[in-house]
Amino acid sequence: MPEIPNLVRSFDGPATRHLSQSGTVQGLGLVPGRLAPEGLLRTVCGYCSTGCGLLVHLQDGKAVNLSPDPDHPVNLGTACPKGWEALAPLASFDRGRSPLLRDPASGRMMRVSWERAMEVFVEKLGESLSRHGSDGAAFLSTGQIPTEEMLFLGALWKFGIGATAADSNTRQCMATAHTAYKESFGFDAPPFSYADFEESDNLIFVGANPAIAHPILWERVLKNRRNPTIVVLDPRRTETAQAATRHVALAPKSDLVLLYGLANEILRRGWMDRDFVAAHTEGFDSFAAFLEEFTTPRALGESGITEEEFSFLADLFEPGKRVGIWWTMGVNQSHQAVRTAQAIVNLCLMTGNIGKPGTGPNSITGQMNAMGSRLFSCTSSLPGGRNWTDPDHRREVAEWFGIPAEKIPDTSGPAYDQILSNARWGLMGFLWVVATNPAHSWIGQEDFDAAAKKTFLVVQDLYPDTETAVMADLYLPSGGWGEKDGSMINSERRLGRMRRAATPPGLALSDLDIFRLVAGAWGVEGRIGSWKTAEDLFQAMRDLSKGRPCDISGVVDLAALESQGGVQWPCPEGAYPPGKERRLFEDGRFFTKSMRAKFVFDPVRPSPITLDANYPLRLLTGRGSSSQWHTLTRTSRSAILRSLAPTDPLVEMHPADATARGLVPGEWVRIRSCRGRARARVVIASTMRQGEIFVPMHAPDANRLTEPVFDPHSRQPSYKDGAVQVERDR
Ligand code: SF4
Repeated sequence: MPEIPNLVRSFDGPATRHLSQSGTVQGLGLVPGRLAPEGLLRTVCGYCSTGCGLLVHLQDGKAVNLSPDPDHPVNLGTACPKGWEALAPLASFDRGRSPLLRDPASGRMMRVSWERAMEVFVEKLGESLSRHGSDGAAFLSTGQIPTEEMLFLGALWKFGIGATAADSNTRQCMATAHTAYKESFGFDAPPFSYADFEESDNLIFVGANPAIAHPILWERVLKNRRNPTIVVLDPRRTETAQAATRHVALAPKSDLVLLYGLANEILRRGWMDRDFVAAHTEGFDSFAAFLEEFTTPRALGESGITEEEFSFLADLFEPGKRVGIWWTMGVNQSHQAVRTAQAIVNLCLMTGNIGKPGTGPNSITGQMNAMGSRLFSCTSSLPGGRNWTDPDHRREVAEWFGIPAEKIPDTSGPAYDQILSNARWGLMGFLWVVATNPAHSWIGQEDFDAAAKKTFLVVQDLYPDTETAVMADLYLPSGGWGEKDGSMINSERRLGRMRRAATPPGLALSDLDIFRLVAGAWGVEGRIGSWKTAEDLFQAMRDLSKGRPCDISGVVDLAALESQGGVQWPCPEGAYPPGKERRLFEDGRFFTKSMRAKFVFDPVRPSPITLDANYPLRLLTGRGSSSQWHTLTRTSRSAILRSLAPTDPLVEMHPADATARGLVPGEWVRIRSCRGRARARVVIASTMRQGEIFVPMHAPDANRLTEPVFDPHSRQPSYKDGAVQVERDR
C-alpha cells in the first residue's frame, strides 16, 4: 500500500484547527482566497442546466443573502425557487462535518480523521484492483460539481490510479443526447443559443416540461415576439402543455414512429430543403427509402393521435417557417432514445431548420454541469470530447499528461448499469459514489442496493443521511455549490463561473481537495499530482480543448468567464471576447470527417414492457414541481422549498381509473409493479390519459417500481415506462 503522505496528517485534529491564522488549509497548502467582507459575489446557480447568474450578498465575510443577477444574459434578473434558496442547503444543521467509518463490530459509523479515512480508502481500493483487475473498482460521479473537479476525478482514476470503470449520473440524464449528437454531427454539440427561444415561428417540445423543469427557459419562450405556435408532444397535459398553443397527447413511447411518420409526410408534401440536404448532409436517400413504411395510418394508429393533429404537426414545417424542436427526458429516457433524438435531428436536417435563428434540434440539459461531464470527466469521452477508441486521440491525451499511450484504455469502460451488474456478480469490490444518490435515483432501485452490499462503499457527499450515504462503509464530507470555485457548462454551451461564498463546515473539504488527498495517498505524481486549485484545472481544460470543437483556449482564466456572464464554446485563442450569444452550424459545416451531418435511423422497436391483467396501468415518472430537485438531497433542507412542494408522495391518475378502483382524492394507495411497491396519495387528474399514472421521481420509492430497461446505444435508463397496478391501501 502506498505511504500516506504528510499532507494528510495535519487533518487529524478538531475542526477549529482546520484553517490556520493565515487562512491556509493546513497540510494541503491551499489558500482558498479570502471573501470580500461586504458586497456582491457573482456566481452561477448549481442546480439545473439553465445556468442562471446569481449574486451572493456578503456581510462580515459571510454569505447572508442571494438574488438573481440582472445583468446575466441567461436569466436577466430572474430565478426559480431553487435558485433563490440556493444558500439554504449549505447552512443545514445536518451537514457532514467529519469522515465516518463503519465499525465492523457495532455496525455504527464512527468519526475518523482524514488520515485514517485515506488509509482505509487506498487499502480497500488496492485490494479490489489487485483481486479483480482494473475493472474491479468504480466511481459513480455527478453532473453537479464543477468541470475542474470532474477532470481531476476522471484523470486521477483512469490515468493516475489505473482503474477503468467509471461513470456519472449524467448517464441517467444526457447520455442519449450525447450519443445522438455525436453520431449525427460528429461531436456532442447542442447547436442552439437561448436566443433561439425568442426567434422561432414554431416551437415543438417533445417530452419536455420547461414550465416547471426549466422555468427560466420557459420565460425566454414567453419573450418571443413572433407570436409563435407552441406545441407540446407528451402523454400528459403537463404545465407546459396547458400553457402551450396546442397539446398533442401521444401514446407513451410512440414518439419515434410519429416523428418518422411526420418526416414521410413532409417528404410527400415536397417541403424538404433540397439545397441544404445536398450541400450539408449525407445518407438522405437511404433515409427517404426507409421512411416509406411510416405511412400516415401507421403513425396515427401507433401514436393514437387524430388525423387533424397529425396534419397540424406537419403544417408546422411549411417552408419559410423557423422551427425549433426541443427535447428533454421524455426522449432521453427511453428504450429507443438515441434513435428518437436522431429522428428529431433528421426532421431539422431535411427541412433546413438548423444553423439559423429560431431553429435546431435542441436538447435541453438536465443537471447544471452534465455537459462538463460529457466533455471533460473521462467517463464517456476523453478530455476535450475525444474518443477512447481513436488512437490519435489517446496519443494526444497521453502526451499532454506525460504518460505512455498504452496507459489509456481503448474503451470508455463499463457503463453505469454494467458497473452495478459487475458488483452484483462479485466482479468488483470497491464503489466510490461522489455527489449523487443512486440508492434513490437508480432505475429498479434494488439493483443498486444489491450492488452496494457486495462492495466497499465510499460515499462523498454534503450529507451523511442521504439514502446512499447511510449505506456507506466510509463517508467523506464534502463541500457543495457555493463552497468552491470552478466552472460549469450550461445547455447552450456556456461556461459560467461558480464562486466560493462559504467554507465547508467542520472537517468537510471541497471535492477537489478530497481528490487531492486521494491522489497524494495513492502516490499519484506528474500533472495530476501537481494540481492544486480550480485555476490549475481550468488551465488544463484550456490546453486539452485546443483544436477541438469545444475549444476554450481563448478564455485566459476563470476570471475571464465573469466579464460577459459566461462564454459559450467554442472560443479559440484570439476569439475573446466572443459576443453574448452564438449558435453552431451557421456555415453548414459539421464535425464529421466529411463535414456533413448524417441521417441516422433504425427500425422502430416496441417497448419491452407490456401491460397485462396484473399490471394494467402504464407508469410515467418525471419532475413534480420547480421547488424540488431530483432526490431532494438539497432542496429538502430548505423550509421554503418544502413549503412549496407536496408533503406526501403523490400519484396522478385519470378520473375513470380512480372511479374503477373506488378511489377518492387524497386517499392512500399502494402501487405495485413486478419489481416492487410504493405508497402514495391519489390525485385525480384530467391531465392524465386513461390507463396511465404519473409518479414524481422525488418520492423515495418511485424507483422501487421502475424496471431496468436501457437504450442500447446510450445505455440511458428508460425511466418513463413501466407496468403497474394501483390499489386501495388497506
Ligand atoms: Fe437555478 Fe435552474 Fe432555477 Fe435557474 S432555473 S435558478 S439555474 S435551478
